[in-house]
Amino acid sequence: MPVGERDLKELDKRYIWHPFTQMREWLEGEPIVIERGEGNYLFDTEGRRYLDGVSSIWCNIHGHRRKEIDSALREQLERVAHSTLLGLSNIPSIELAERLVSIAPEGLTKVFYSDNGSTAVEVAIKMAFHYWRHKGQRRDRFVAFTASYHGDTIGSVSVGGIELFHGIYRPLLFPVYRAHYPYCYRCHLDKTYPGCSLACLEEVEGLLSCHHREVAAVIIEPLFQGASGMIVSPPGFLRGVRELCSRYGVLLIADEVATAFGRTGRMFACDHEGVRPDFLCLAKGLTGGYLPLAATLTTEEVFNAFLGDYSEFKTFFHGHTYTGNPLGCAAALANLRIFEEERVLERLGEKVEAFERALGSLKDLPHVGDVRHIGLVAGIELVRDRATKEPYPLEEKMGFKVCNIARQRGLLLRPLGNVIVLMPPLSITEKEVVWMVETVREAIEETTNRSPRSWR
Ligand SMILES: *Cc1c(COP(=O)(O)O)cnc(C)c1O
Repeated sequence: MPVGERDLKELDKRYIWHPFTQMREWLEGEPIVIERGEGNYLFDTEGRRYLDGVSSIWCNIHGHRRKEIDSALREQLERVAHSTLLGLSNIPSIELAERLVSIAPEGLTKVFYSDNGSTAVEVAIKMAFHYWRHKGQRRDRFVAFTASYHGDTIGSVSVGGIELFHGIYRPLLFPVYRAHYPYCYRCHLDKTYPGCSLACLEEVEGLLSCHHREVAAVIIEPLFQGASGMIVSPPGFLRGVRELCSRYGVLLIADEVATAFGRTGRMFACDHEGVRPDFLCLAKGLTGGYLPLAATLTTEEVFNAFLGDYSEFKTFFHGHTYTGNPLGCAAALANLRIFEEERVLERLGEKVEAFERALGSLKDLPHVGDVRHIGLVAGIELVRDRATKEPYPLEEKMGFKVCNIARQRGLLLRPLGNVIVLMPPLSITEKEVVWMVETVREAIEETTNRSPRSWR
């Protein structure tokens, strides 16, 4: 029987194990099954239309079914869908590598492909570690930040710092030194004072001054931490971390899996502060949200350390089957061409201003503790008590409740705990931005009015 004639929701429940999902709840619920996309909208099997408010988990850039990307893929299909980079090369992967180097922060001249954000980070971790071995130094440690998220494979979970996701796996993980990421709304210091981010930098400096001889690299989500709740770091923090890495001779890994490709208003988050990392990890938005493709960019210095006679075995023994996949690379090239041809970054300013203006209207809601944003990304943190910043217990699922109401009104969102995330495609219009934030405001009002505690 063709799929269309069967009960898709029933089959989903019978066969699919969904990621980051309590499946008992899923089995009791009513799933939305997406059938097609068009521009900034997705349509489900019942014909309902939704604005894609989180870019299909942070990866769509120019909207769905962009004709330029669609036809680049069709043209590539006329040639070859896949061929390996192990011992061979292919045309789109060469062209894309050249393109990425030309737009990346200066000095990042070598491109290593993989499939997703987690593998892009694994590659950077292994390269950094191995680089120091080639230099004759044992550096087995990394410095990572509190509440960081770098993916779900074991290496990227090791540098990750979200207790709820990562804690249980600790026995499987390598140890890291941990510094506070400046989460200014909930500053870990007794009193918040201006220059709070300086205190976080001092902590990094403290770790590096003690341990720099054993630290291979510092890994950071530049400008904002994604999965821990869209935590935007204060200006200068990233540059400060870069300067400390340089001063102590430690490599810097910029995990731009979530921040790259215009999200922050510039092509890369590092561009805001003129920072050149030693590794740049790219994935989510690389193909415009079309196909799983990732890249880890690095420097001549790192690359050269791996050169030698075959018999020295200095080779980087790492590679994924679909590395440099021609279809993925063709989609990425088309994605970057749209940036250029439509001057997407230059035209983003007005949308960002409209977004900021609209977000301002959320700040007086009694259960909105913090509204943080950069570019076209925002995190709206709900709290039970604004004066004390007391959070809602996670069991109350306030974030999910708000997002469910938004869904009923045609806006697809996915929360992070008590934080409502907004990360629309860059192709969103000013009008849609205003509608999106207004819908979120209504959903928050409706949810928090229903919450029994607020009746007291
Ligand atoms: C999503 C994400 C990852 C992991 O990417 P996957 O493609 O899901 O493996 C890594 N780092 C950051 C900052 C991310 O947001």
